[in-house]
Amino acid sequence: MEIVQIAAELAPVAKVGGLADVLLALSKALQAKKEQVEIVLPRYDCLDVTEVEDLNLLPGSFTTFFDGHYHQNSLWKGRVHGVNITFIEPDDPWGFFERNTVYGSPDDTERFLYFCKAAIDYLYCRERLPEIVHVHDWHLSALPALLKTQEEKKVPKIVLTIHNHTYQGITSAATLYKAGFKKELFPPRDHYNLLEEGIRYADYITTVSPTYAQEILGPSGGDLSALLREAKKKGAFEGILNGIDLDVWNPKKDSFLPIHYDKEHKSGKKEIQKMVRKMFSLEESNGPLVSSITRLVYQKSPELIKEGLLWTLKAKGQFILLGSSADSATHEAFYALKRTLSSNRGCHIELAFNERLSHLVYAASDILLVPSRFEPCGLTQLYAMRYGTLPLVHKTGGLADTVIDNENGFTFETATKEAEIGAFERAFHIYRELPEKWRTMQDRAMRSDFSWDNPAMRYSVIYRQLVPSSPLLS
Ligand code: ADP
Repeated sequence: MEIVQIAAELAPVAKVGGLADVLLALSKALQAKKEQVEIVLPRYDCLDVTEVEDLNLLPGSFTTFFDGHYHQNSLWKGRVHGVNITFIEPDDPWGFFERNTVYGSPDDTERFLYFCKAAIDYLYCRERLPEIVHVHDWHLSALPALLKTQEEKKVPKIVLTIHNHTYQGITSAATLYKAGFKKELFPPRDHYNLLEEGIRYADYITTVSPTYAQEILGPSGGDLSALLREAKKKGAFEGILNGIDLDVWNPKKDSFLPIHYDKEHKSGKKEIQKMVRKMFSLEESNGPLVSSITRLVYQKSPELIKEGLLWTLKAKGQFILLGSSADSATHEAFYALKRTLSSNRGCHIELAFNERLSHLVYAASDILLVPSRFEPCGLTQLYAMRYGTLPLVHKTGGLADTVIDNENGFTFETATKEAEIGAFERAFHIYRELPEKWRTMQDRAMRSDFSWDNPAMRYSVIYRQLVPSSPLLS
């Protein structure tokens, strides 16, 4: 079966958050199950192509009709970690993918509408249509509607995965018409919600954990919950827990780590902790070393990250924050905190997105704080566990599905300072007074199976439900 994955992000080529990691790891896992997979991405000018093999510009081009004119697109082909990848490079007057950033331009909806349109044109230029087109998040949510409301063409089945339902792609009717949405089907009105149209037109909708699926069927799903309930009733909506890429996230062979370790031989973890302390001029300490590796946005409860950091320092633990923020107010607030604590040798604040450092910090830490208000799946707690670092999390969404209190980490029920500190007190007590129990929890966390095997199998089964003529190969 041929599956084309189309998305805005892909690790390590264009990574902003978890979506990028999921795209690569899911595609690899499907390929391991003998599916034929191709990933399609815009050719952003800020791509990191160091890990793209055999990157080639193909001769020729194809056109996309957008905003009243035809525009040429070139195709680049290559492979990332053994998966075929196609980059679409438009020659458009707006420079849609020449912004030195994946997201964050005022015309993001136009940019991704163009990409949806171009991706469809590309699908019909291929030797054959794939059986399945799997699209991700609001950026690609216009694709199902555009594909299904065109005339006379054979159409593949479409799966839409919602990685975060709060980003929806709100846009005007006029913008939709630029991309070729038909006025008869999409009459003029105040605004359109691209994610909503994706849910309406996709053949199957998934999200990234069972608890989050449950949450967005209810009040937290807001305006989308009724549509999702309808899909659920038709047997076309479910939550499938994300896995992690065990080739990339493995302390036994992680290429970013100076020393390797595993659950039987953990001394390397202590060594890395020592090195990271030195690197950030933290004083020698018996720990615990707490960290947070996150985008600093409302969803991630930046105020609880700050509270957790301050409490940790008061309780004579240490804290490393690796946080990136797109909005200047949050960046400024954390920068001010960094300045205030500049002479404190118990903490380091790094306000950046740094892949290499993230691997080092997962390995060096004892505890990873994830106090998110909501969390569709969350990957950081999964990476932490794999690296023998116990997650301390707000019990919501995918965090509730993966972290079991007192077993492989610590959870708190409400996203409040009091609840968070209660969990910190329990964690610090076990770390300091019950080292045997700590080791047992750490072993359990490191043994947890968060591989993509089962989730990828579930996706294969869904694809085959949609295209029953293709038998499962493995
Ligand atoms: P989200 O996609 O909402 O940001 P996830 O937990 O699903 O959250 O995935 C976050 C991904 O981004 C993980 O791979 C994590 O290691 C990475 N990440 C987040 N913040 C940073 C940062 N400041 N530097 C490096 N990697 C980061």
